[in-house]
Amino acid sequence: MTKFVFVTGGVVSSLGKGIASASLAALLESRGLKVTLIKLDPYLNVDPGTMSPFQHGEVYVTEDGAETDLDLGHYERFIETRMRKANNFTTGQIYKSVLEKERRGDYLGKTVQVIPHVTNEIQDFVKRGAGIGTSEPIDVAIVEIGGTVGDIESLPFLEAVRQLSLRMGPNMAAFVHLTYLPWIGAAGELKTKPTQHTVQKLREIGIQADALLCRADRRIPDEEREKISLFTNVAPWGVISMPDVDTIYKVPRLLHEQGLDGLICDKLRLSTPPARLNRWDNLVQEVTNPQGEVNIAMVGKYVDLSDSYKSVNEALRHAGLKNHVKVNISYVDSETLSANNIQQLEAFDGILVPGGFGQRGVEGKISTAKFARENKVPYLGICLGMQVATIEFARHVAGLSDANSTEFDPQTKTPVIALIDDWKDADGTIQKRTANSDLGGTMRLGAQSSDVVKGTIAHGIYGDVVSERHRHRYEANVNYLDQLRDAGLVISALTQREQLTEIVELPQTVHPWYVGVQFHPEFKSTPWDGHPLFNAFIKASLVNRAARAAS
Ligand code: GLN
Repeated sequence: MTKFVFVTGGVVSSLGKGIASASLAALLESRGLKVTLIKLDPYLNVDPGTMSPFQHGEVYVTEDGAETDLDLGHYERFIETRMRKANNFTTGQIYKSVLEKERRGDYLGKTVQVIPHVTNEIQDFVKRGAGIGTSEPIDVAIVEIGGTVGDIESLPFLEAVRQLSLRMGPNMAAFVHLTYLPWIGAAGELKTKPTQHTVQKLREIGIQADALLCRADRRIPDEEREKISLFTNVAPWGVISMPDVDTIYKVPRLLHEQGLDGLICDKLRLSTPPARLNRWDNLVQEVTNPQGEVNIAMVGKYVDLSDSYKSVNEALRHAGLKNHVKVNISYVDSETLSANNIQQLEAFDGILVPGGFGQRGVEGKISTAKFARENKVPYLGICLGMQVATIEFARHVAGLSDANSTEFDPQTKTPVIALIDDWKDADGTIQKRTANSDLGGTMRLGAQSSDVVKGTIAHGIYGDVVSERHRHRYEANVNYLDQLRDAGLVISALTQREQLTEIVELPQTVHPWYVGVQFHPEFKSTPWDGHPLFNAFIKASLVNRAARAAS
């Protein structure tokens, strides 16, 4: 029987509900339970695929090709269970499904309403996310409800989970509420009033929290904890202090020491062995005691908001842990870069160009790839970063001086990067992808496998086969591959199904470490082992750093 923990948030957003949910999941997993996480997003977009990274942060891609909220990245980095499409859904998806049913006549002429039709649909989606009715039973599904209690948008979600907990009967669901206690300097006090109000708001809807996670910039003194308990009807041991910490990996232990996992297991009548947190302790030890550092330039467009590259940042840091160094990431806005000021990249031990869309800032990224190639700086190009490396090589090495991607210049005479449909006539073996004007539906998404060429950097990292996740529309044009190969570019992996270019690199006889990948390796990096490609990139950057120091 799958049991549920519903996690809500109050007072303000950005309190770290995702990390709190993932940490609780990690604690339960360490007790030997099979756990999953589900994220409910109260906005009307069907998925975050079409939303600006400036607004919404990174779009996280799952193995099965779903474009999801970045919290799913935290989930996969914190627990063993892999996320699928069903682990994240939005109000938009719920309404889409309800309206499709209505058009099909499934409601048999009834008036379709938020209660019960929308709330029932939400419950079905939640159960599906928890794998109920499938062959893989989950012990506990932790359901994070996006938004803040009191928002109009999240009301149907809260009503749905209240009904679900009622329908399941006693001891099947627990409620955890994240709240915020502001520190008022003039009074020298942490204020509990907003917490009292948000818990009242929750009770109005019929939900009584079993635990309160009290976010604040400091620990909550016992006196305040008792006061909160009294006003909110939450047992004193359920009022848990969640002060700011210097690394997110400290959160599981912080919650465990105040008994959160014990409280949840009691509430859900789960009897398990005690939590085992050695690997979290070791991780914190590693994070707080680096033996060196390395400076990486991340040259991109959404540099103002580091959430836009969340998984890339995390993957770089994980690779730092693996190499026992701290990774200093400097964001360089590609729009400000040109041949005249590109020398500023000399300050870095390694250069990374992450994924991106659209023409803005792309010439700066091409200049960056050129700088890294000519100056023998380790270069990792991810998705768009691989495409700009290919364009740069075509222009400046292969003699195709006007090479471009049809994404940036639809009229280009030399489309070394293009949509498959742009060149399909030239190569009949490639299957045409579904023509679709729907922006959310034209991407190559999710995991795909490729064969890796022996004797390449890629082979040293991946072995014979690489399987990574994708999110892109454009591809290296097969019609130019021979010319690029003749000029010295190594195509080190091709997809098994369609023979599309998956990895390009320079031979190590001409450059120490220069790799571009069409996929997004960052989505599969974890703090435990890092990711082999990022580990190798950081290692090469450290070699470069040592060489620079010596010269
Ligand atoms: N804009 C490029 C494409 O669609 C690259 C996408 C990406 O970097 N994720 O192919």
